[in-house]
Amino acid sequence: MTMAIRVRSRTGREWLLTEEVGSGSEGVVYAVHRAPGLVAKVVPRPRDPAAYRRRLDRLLRQAREPRTSRLLPAGQPPRLAWPLEIVTTERGTAVGCLMPDLRVTHQPLECLLSPAARRAHLPAATWATALRAAASLAELLADLHAEGYVVGDLKPENLWVNAAGAVALADVDSLQFVDGAETFPCRMRSAGYTAPECVDSEALPDRASDSFVLAVLAHQLLMDGLHPFHGHPADGSPYVSFDDNLLRGRCRLVDRASVVLPRFAPPLDLLPAGLYRLFRRAFDAAGRRDPSVRPSPTEWALALRRELAPARLVACGRDPGHRHSVERPWCPWCDQQARREEELPAPLARTNGGPAANEPRPAAPHAAPPTARRRGPVPGLDGRRGGCGDG
Ligand SMILES: [Zn+2]
Repeated sequence: MTMAIRVRSRTGREWLLTEEVGSGSEGVVYAVHRAPGLVAKVVPRPRDPAAYRRRLDRLLRQAREPRTSRLLPAGQPPRLAWPLEIVTTERGTAVGCLMPDLRVTHQPLECLLSPAARRAHLPAATWATALRAAASLAELLADLHAEGYVVGDLKPENLWVNAAGAVALADVDSLQFVDGAETFPCRMRSAGYTAPECVDSEALPDRASDSFVLAVLAHQLLMDGLHPFHGHPADGSPYVSFDDNLLRGRCRLVDRASVVLPRFAPPLDLLPAGLYRLFRRAFDAAGRRDPSVRPSPTEWALALRRELAPARLVACGRDPGHRHSVERPWCPWCDQQARREEELPAPLARTNGGPAANEPRPAAPHAAPPTARRRGPVPGLDGRRGGCGDG
């Protein structure tokens, strides 16, 4: 407790912040002493403290307005870690807010994206859970957009998921919105999770930018974490980043010949045709150039829910943890498992369940290609360019 930070709400109530449990855009997230359902996010040195305070103030006020209370239904697992109260440190230099602790009800979305993390944290999750999570995320975005919010900095680190595939969003204080005459912009950019019109650009994100990143995340969810712009350029030029592949149109889903993927990348034909078409509309040349042609979150939600109908999903006869689309004549996950086991000496190969814990991990599909690691920061960790200012 010696390291605890004392903060005060505007009504004079004191809270003790204990250990650091994470970090969000510009801030640090702490556990709150004797308040198990809460965390506090504190921004040590906001670039513009008055503007940040005003942003939080508006979000708090909006939580009581009908448009936002529809986003925060009572008595259900939270969908948004909406700020509950503004707090400041004793000297008043750091500003922050109390918000619901999503760890109580959810796991980081990363737990669905990495096969190893999924086995450890969401062992009952199947491809159906991934479909549900993608649909839930699409519905959350559709609802936010309908109420005038743009997420802007949509990425796995800000997203949480529960065992039923329900998705929740943290970092609500970085949402972009208009309140009265004032626009509260989101200037945060995360590598690999930025729409093409916002890459290397000061352009503010809009709903269509969110729709692009939704397609990226849906692809990762349905493809065992594989980023849609993952792969070494097939023309022999060096791999730079997901964003570079994006700007140059290197994407297996659009052009199979444009990239070389790791051996264990899940096959493209595990996608049902309806979803494959939506991905193409988001990622092909038109979708990259013209935000208006991308599928909206509502379209995604409908298409994803359709694939969850019992007649559309097949349970694998060999492994109870496998589900696949009825359009795929045999189980793609058994194929994946067989390919991995071919790589192993016989005694190590497992006959059921997932790959052995000590399996070699040549090029996990959710990670960056090896050259990217040598060249620079791993995509997803070198995320932030610029801040979520209130300028
Ligand atoms: Zn199977």
